[in-house]
Amino acid sequence: MPSEFEIIRRYFSRPAPSALLGVGDDAALVQSAAGRELAVSTDLLLEGRHFAAGAAPRALGHKALAVNLSDMAAMGATPRWATLALALPSADAAWLAPFAEGFYALAARFGVDLVGGDTTRGPLTLCVTLLGELPAGTALRRDGARPGDDVWVSGALGGAAYALEHAQDAAAAKRLHEPEPRVALGERLRGLAGAAIDVSDGFAQDLGHILERSGVGAVVRYADLPKFRIADAALEQRCVLAGGDDYELLFTAPPGARAHIEALAAPLGLALSRVGSIRAGAPRLQLLDAQGRAMRTTPGFDHFA
Ligand code: ADP
Ligand code: MG
Repeated sequence: MPSEFEIIRRYFSRPAPSALLGVGDDAALVQSAAGRELAVSTDLLLEGRHFAAGAAPRALGHKALAVNLSDMAAMGATPRWATLALALPSADAAWLAPFAEGFYALAARFGVDLVGGDTTRGPLTLCVTLLGELPAGTALRRDGARPGDDVWVSGALGGAAYALEHAQDAAAAKRLHEPEPRVALGERLRGLAGAAIDVSDGFAQDLGHILERSGVGAVVRYADLPKFRIADAALEQRCVLAGGDDYELLFTAPPGARAHIEALAAPLGLALSRVGSIRAGAPRLQLLDAQGRAMRTTPGFDHFA
């Protein structure tokens, strides 16, 4: 059984060239350029709650980082440095090697260096903290939506939730287990979008957060929402409106930005759909069906519900 230090040395000590000091001291040292702000986010993944016992370790390494990258995307930040806190039931090389591989592969794609963490024995728990950078004052905050703004969504909604019920659907499973964080889109939306959030708990609930923080309402046309292909209409509605774990970006922007936003889709290889608009008034989502009638919205995922 390797020691904690052996695990760190063997699996989590790859070079971190973007840090002044990486793994191996009491703290890592990083330097942010003048005129830039740091964005900081943490996400905790717990076995039995966020992923099933026996989940593939490579996908877990990917997802533990991906959910944090998605938070950076939703702020418009460029991800830079990560720390990884791990509780492991045992030092199992057959688990650790592919986990580290999944983590470092995604980190390399997004230019993120792992600069520290903590490792202890315990029920399988993965906690990543990510630092990102952005020009001062350009963050895409939840409180930036204004009446008259369009509401936009990237990619397609509902695939990850669909995978929970149809595990054999490979495209849906990929959405759930190896989400693709929309970092490049977030960066390109700086200066264009008013507010942004990533869809982690379901479209209706996550849009609700923007409405609450911005003190505005919204009207959204269900027919215009980009949807993962789901044959059953009732299931589709549940997955698209209330399904978590999609990690698409939901953002608002003034109508004057439409052409600029539409022009981002092709270079990013990512669908960008205009699905509704922001209205003055109470922070309420009005959802319309194809006939323009009001639809009932289903609540999203709440860990304490
Ligand atoms: P300390 O006792 O100061 O908390 P540790 O012995 O926990 O230090 O960690 C030693 C070094 O290894 C530190 O630089 C820490 O950030 C790093 N580290 C520990 N666990 C991990 C991990 N899972 N991934 C990356 N770095 C880690
Ligand atoms: Mg420690």
